[in-house]
Amino acid sequence: MKLIERVLALGNLLEFSDIAYIETDISLRIISWNSAAQRLFHYSEDQALGRYLSNLIPVDKETLLNCTRTERQSIQIQDKAGENCDYQITCTPIKSLKAERLGVALTVEKMSSPPEIHPGLKALSEQEIQELCNSAPIGIYHVSLDGKLNVANSEYAWMLGYESPEAAISQIHDFARQVFFDEKKAEEFMFNILESDQIVSFRSRLKRKDNSFIWALCYAKVTRNESGRVNGFNGFSINISAVVRTEKALEEANQKLKIISIIDGLTQIPNRRHFDETLEKEWKRHLRKEEELSVILCDIDFFKPYNDTYGHQAGDECLKKVARTIQASVLRPEDFTARYGGEEFVLILPNTNLKGAKEVAERVRTAVENLEVPHEGSRIAPHVTLSLGGATVTPHEHCSAHTLVDMADQALYEAKEGGRNQSLGKQM
Ligand code: GH3
Ligand code: MG
Ligand code: MG
Repeated sequence: MKLIERVLALGNLLEFSDIAYIETDISLRIISWNSAAQRLFHYSEDQALGRYLSNLIPVDKETLLNCTRTERQSIQIQDKAGENCDYQITCTPIKSLKAERLGVALTVEKMSSPPEIHPGLKALSEQEIQELCNSAPIGIYHVSLDGKLNVANSEYAWMLGYESPEAAISQIHDFARQVFFDEKKAEEFMFNILESDQIVSFRSRLKRKDNSFIWALCYAKVTRNESGRVNGFNGFSINISAVVRTEKALEEANQKLKIISIIDGLTQIPNRRHFDETLEKEWKRHLRKEEELSVILCDIDFFKPYNDTYGHQAGDECLKKVARTIQASVLRPEDFTARYGGEEFVLILPNTNLKGAKEVAERVRTAVENLEVPHEGSRIAPHVTLSLGGATVTPHEHCSAHTLVDMADQALYEAKEGGRNQSLGKQM
């Protein structure tokens, strides 16, 4: 119902509009002729209906017969004073619901006169306009529909690596292939320009004559001939290679910064911040899946005496060795090792029960013990050893990741109290 009401309203609008509206059948015989058409062409509806359109109006028959989408053409019609005036015809095919062609619908409008040229511009000679373009710091050019470069200013020739605009114009005859680095992007760009009446902008790599490239920000707009048909496009390009270089450097710096912010500088394994974020994520994931999550804290025994005996630098080397060894002792790809702080390390073992955590803790402890890094200051062994405290929990709403770490810390304390070089675990 709504649709019928709208169609009726549209019909009324067309009937009383000042724009001539005409419909024809498939053979271009007139089947609809509104009052504006009667006024414009001086034929009444009775006189027009059933006659061939081309007998009444100087239209290009071929264009109308072949029109598959909305198209425009211009014609000249004599007004009452006998003067020729320019009119624009917009035609569009009428199709059935099955997309069969039934005829053509047309509107005929008087063309507005071209915009007044600013008096200052009128005064410029062709040579002055050329000089103006050549002094512009952006590339200015025109490309015809067959892909030939017709116009180029000095900056554009320079951007593309040609010695002069003339050299660029005489050598560029396939714009999309010769000027674009990326053929797919070129096709997409040309399609967008030709489909749009607006200014199209894009950023792309342009190919230079010597096959090097520059980054450019390009704007383009279609151009039309006197009869309104698209005949190419005007383009404006700005060299943004320096901007792109800066952006890339910034992106790399940001990437490095991001890595630095989550990796421990000494041991090159994840740092405390990375641990906190990962634990929070794993906690939420295990809360959803209702699976067991384990954490193990590892602490080097008598590390202060190690520094005192061998010096701080040797202490650093020892920390690196222990970090590498702990990391190598966890086998599942989703297990996570970090430096918790000082001579303490921490493991997150997703989807792991207390028994599994205990196995990992013992594997880590023996791996460090087997390094046999001499440690004369230790009161329990002739080499470096670890104490470990683990905790396992199935996360639920009434506790947090902190509780899990606190439990592991408590277990570690008990392992230290119980003689060091051992692992203890707790389950909630
Ligand atoms: P415990 O067996 O009870 O764990 O005793 P500990 O000496 O290992 O523990 P304590 O907490 O008393 O000392 C830790 C030491 O670790 C003190 C500190 O100087 C050392 N340390 C922390 N960070 C670093 C580091 O980056 N490099 C070096 N070389 N030493 C560090
Ligand atoms: Mg400690
Ligand atoms: Mg310690």
